[in-house]
Amino acid sequence: MKVVLENLTKIFPSRNKKSGEEVIAVNDFTFTIPDGKLIGLLGPSGCGKSTTLYMISGLQKPTSGKIYFGDDDVTELSTENRGVGLVFQNYALYPHMTVKQNILFPLQNLKGADKLSKDEMLDRALNAARLVQIDELMDRKPSELSGGQQQRVAIARALVKMPRVLLLDEPLSNLDARLRLQTREEIRRIQRETGITTVFVTHDQEEAMSISDMIVVMKQGIVQQIGKPQEVYDNPINLFVAKFLGTPPINVFEGKVEGGKIYIGEDAVLDITGVEDQPVMIGIRPEGFELSENGALKCKLTNVEVMGRDVSVVSKNDSCVSPAIRSIINADNKVDPSAEFVRYDIKPHKIFIFNKETEERIYFEVK
Ligand code: ADP
Ligand code: MG
Repeated sequence: MKVVLENLTKIFPSRNKKSGEEVIAVNDFTFTIPDGKLIGLLGPSGCGKSTTLYMISGLQKPTSGKIYFGDDDVTELSTENRGVGLVFQNYALYPHMTVKQNILFPLQNLKGADKLSKDEMLDRALNAARLVQIDELMDRKPSELSGGQQQRVAIARALVKMPRVLLLDEPLSNLDARLRLQTREEIRRIQRETGITTVFVTHDQEEAMSISDMIVVMKQGIVQQIGKPQEVYDNPINLFVAKFLGTPPINVFEGKVEGGKIYIGEDAVLDITGVEDQPVMIGIRPEGFELSENGALKCKLTNVEVMGRDVSVVSKNDSCVSPAIRSIINADNKVDPSAEFVRYDIKPHKIFIFNKETEERIYFEVK
């Protein structure tokens, strides 16, 4: 089921009558979620992710704009009639019911033509439980389950109604690091097996990048960029997106373009064409640095961290906006930790420049 968001906007009136400031939680969001795909909705806390999800689910009504499931306009439909499965961060299971009862619950309220026989309900519940691999735990109460297991029950409960669209709001946030990894792989597997169009909300860029077919990066209610995770990482549209994606994060410098060269301080790090002289912000991915004796960029070495396959070199440069420069270098390159300076050449496809005021990307050609 494809999901179409058309100029979707949500404005919350001011809570404080005096200040009168309304909140534009979601601002003119237009996007078609392709059928059967998993979309990661990504951005910092407060950027409008949950509000977007709640509008798709029908829990909140848009101030303006439309939502279609396939060709059906569902904008005015209630949540019950949209055929969505919802999973939240805090599992929200019924504590006094067993796992089986929790999963059966949504089916017991089906009315009219949708009404199921007892056997059909049990069958569906068991199938959903098998899909999330908790079919052995059907008689337990939620308090007798780990966080990861509880979240699986919540996912089974969302799947049992065979939703047209699955909506997950930070479903892994309450899990510890190990379970988070495991459960996100599970979610990906379940999504592939069922082929249900899924929207997965998270503030964790790594999580979104690792499981999404496409990511939508939001900031203050406004969609910044939509694309395949690798495409967005390789081609950020502005400094915000460049900074939001990647661990370690991109290294940001103040610099300039002058006479067809990108400068960091006095160091000309790349020859380019197609950009007029101007001050710019410069972003270099950690993997964009190449150690070289006569390298263009000179930095003061502060630390070398060995990580097995790679070495993380920490250095400083007066033009760097972040407290330290982190570069990831293949461990085959020997770095002398006692050296005072390191020199780098910069890989041309790993350096981006941005307008100093608007922070929009400035595109160049490498000379
Ligand atoms: P996210 O899920 O990305 O953290 P939300 O969608 O929850 O962000 O919120 C987006 C913005 O809308 C925030 O500024 C938040 O404070 C505001 N907001 C969310 N829900 C309400 C509400 N019911 N009333 C007023 N403001 C709200
Ligand atoms: Mg939220």
